Amino acid sequence: MLIARGITKRFGAVQALAGLDLAIEAGEFFALLGGSGSGKSTLLRVLAGFEAPDAGVLTLDGQDLLAMPPWARPINMMFQSYALLPHMNVAENIAYGLKRAGVATEERRRRIAEALELVGLPGMESRKPQQLSGGQKQRVALARSLVMRPRLLLLDEPMAALDAGLRERTGLELRALQRKTGAAFVMVTHDQQEALALADRIAVLESGRVAQIGPPQEVYARPATRFVARFLGAANVLEGRMCGDVFEGAEAGVAIASGLPGETIAIALRAEHIRLISADQPHCVRGVVEDAAFRGDDWLLIIRLPGGARLRVAHGDVPPAPGDTVALAWEAASVVPLFA
Ligand code: ADP
Ligand code: MG
Repeated sequence: MLIARGITKRFGAVQALAGLDLAIEAGEFFALLGGSGSGKSTLLRVLAGFEAPDAGVLTLDGQDLLAMPPWARPINMMFQSYALLPHMNVAENIAYGLKRAGVATEERRRRIAEALELVGLPGMESRKPQQLSGGQKQRVALARSLVMRPRLLLLDEPMAALDAGLRERTGLELRALQRKTGAAFVMVTHDQQEALALADRIAVLESGRVAQIGPPQEVYARPATRFVARFLGAANVLEGRMCGDVFEGAEAGVAIASGLPGETIAIALRAEHIRLISADQPHCVRGVVEDAAFRGDDWLLIIRLPGGARLRVAHGDVPPAPGDTVALAWEAASVVPLFA
């Protein structure tokens, strides 16, 4: 539905967007995940029309979006700060866009009530923003966006201002709302758990470009680059090179895996995929326990390999003592080759 090609945007010396390509499908819950300064907000502002890109193509169902002013785009944006007007009550805040679009008074009233019902705040029309909790303000901002019936709703860190306890529930409600309205939601977040839990697809942004895009399970299980692997919490990223079909870990001092593609320059291995085995088995990697920390569900072991690299290992049982030599093993399928 929405296609962005080669979008670039520079602010002075800063390249905020660096030839970004992206396609978003109708009715999907899409998450833009990236660190601070990776270009997430700039991208949303370009999509909404508040910022013109220096170069690139942007279309919605084949229509050239860049030729349309913000108000004419079937796109609405919910700002990180919510941007509610303090002197106006809830109904007036929500009515703002409808008025500008020339919707008649009666119809406006009906749609405002409907939008408040949708976000779970029926009857709140005459409250002022300062009489609302953080969670309620967020819902009013959401109602103000949804009342315009956008085909695409852009949400910039929608949960960032909420208490940790509210965030999970609000996220699930947001997704339910997305399903109900059928609009595509594009949610910006720097929280990988949030993106993994809610999105149909995720794009990981790095320095103004899409580093990887796909369903959460796929991006989590098969990160393609070191950056994505680290960003999605792969506990171990080991540098190395292929010698024949064997991956030699540069700082591991041992062969880590075999049968990986020749272009492999590093591997990712999750802590929970590494097992401690009895040392008399062949084909295992040996290391020395440096540290063990209790995490509640399990122990986190830090194990130093012969070359000096450290592996993080999730261990369910009573841990070996620091200084012990242990043997480690993992399934070949757990080793994720990284190519950049
Ligand atoms: P994110 O939302 O991922 O944290 P932004 O899109 O806000 O990142 O910013 C990307 C980069 O562009 C940052 O380095 C930021 O400082 C810069 N930037 C964003 N907007 C402006 C602006 N209006 N003027 C100058 N630099 C900006
Ligand atoms: Mg931002």
